[in-house]
Amino acid sequence: MARSSFPNADLHCHSVRSDGVLDPAELARRAHANGVDLWALTDHDELSGLADAAQAAAGLGLPFVPGVEISVTWAGRTVHIVGLGVDIGDADLNAGLASVRARRDGRAVEIARRLDALPGISGSYQGALRLAPNPSLISRTHFARFLVQQGHCASMQQVFDRYLGEDCQANVPQRWAGLGEAVGWIIHAGGRAVVAHPGRYRYSQMEAGAFFDEFRQLGGQGIEVVTGSHYPAQYREYADIARYYGFLASRGSDFHSPGESRVDLGALPPLPDGLTPVWYDWI
Ligand code: AMP
Ligand code: MN
Ligand code: MN
Ligand code: MN
Repeated sequence: MARSSFPNADLHCHSVRSDGVLDPAELARRAHANGVDLWALTDHDELSGLADAAQAAAGLGLPFVPGVEISVTWAGRTVHIVGLGVDIGDADLNAGLASVRARRDGRAVEIARRLDALPGISGSYQGALRLAPNPSLISRTHFARFLVQQGHCASMQQVFDRYLGEDCQANVPQRWAGLGEAVGWIIHAGGRAVVAHPGRYRYSQMEAGAFFDEFRQLGGQGIEVVTGSHYPAQYREYADIARYYGFLASRGSDFHSPGESRVDLGALPPLPDGLTPVWYDWI
C-alpha cells in the first residue's frame, strides 16, 4: 500500500446524537469493518455520543479522535467547522455548544409552519421530532426524512432541492455561532479547527479568500480536502488551497446513514500528495 493511503483516516461522521441513523457503537463497528484505522465522530453541535464512541473504538482497538461539527454563520451564510481532538469535558466548548443547540427548536417550529403551509403536508414538527432521537438536535435532515417517509419526495436530495435547500421556501435562516466563537471553543478544548467540506459553500472567490484568511488568523488550522461532499475535481482544488494557506488537510466521509450517504465510512480515496495531514502527529 502506498504510504499516502495509510492510515485510512475517516474524521467526519454522524450518529443518532445528531442527524445520523446509527448509534456511536454501531458506527465504530462499521468503521472498523470497513478498514478505517483512525476514526472521529463529529456530531453537529453535540458531544454526547463521544464517550460511547470512544469506549466502542477502544474495544475494537480502533484509534479514536473525539470530534464535533459546529454550525457557524459567516457573512450571512452557514459554514461548518469541525473540531478534532477536543476535550469532551471542556466547560467553554460545552457551554458554547449548548447555546448553539438552544437555537434549533424555535427554528424547527418555523420550518414546520412553512412545510405545513404546503399542499398535502401536515404534522411536520411532530413527524421530524419522532425521527430525532436527540430532541435538542432537531435538524433539516429529520424533516427531510419525514417528507420522504410520508411520500412527499422521492429522496433526501429532492427535499433539499425543493423545500429545505439554502434558497428554498422552508429553509429558515438561523444565526449560529460566530466563526471566532467556534474556533475559540475548539482551541480552548485543546482541539484543531478544520473547515468542513469547503467546496459546498457558495461564496465568491473574494469572500472565500477573506474567509480562509480570517479562519487562519483566528487559529484555524485545517480544511477538509477529501470528503464525501466533494467531487474528485474538488480534491485537487482544495489540495491547492491547503498548500496556498498552509492548512493541514483532513479526510472524512460525512457518513450519516447506510441508505442515504453517497460515501461509506472509510471508502474515500487517499489525500493527494504533498499535503500535511491533520493527523500528522496523532499516529
Ligand atoms: P441543519 O444543521 O439543521 O441546517 O441541517 C443541515 C444538514 O442537512 C446537513 O448536516 C446535512 O446532513 C443535511 N443536508 C444538507 N443539504 C443536504 C442535501 N442536499 N442532501 C441531503 N442532506 C443534506
Ligand atoms: Mn448532517
Ligand atoms: Mn456539514
Ligand atoms: Mn457533517
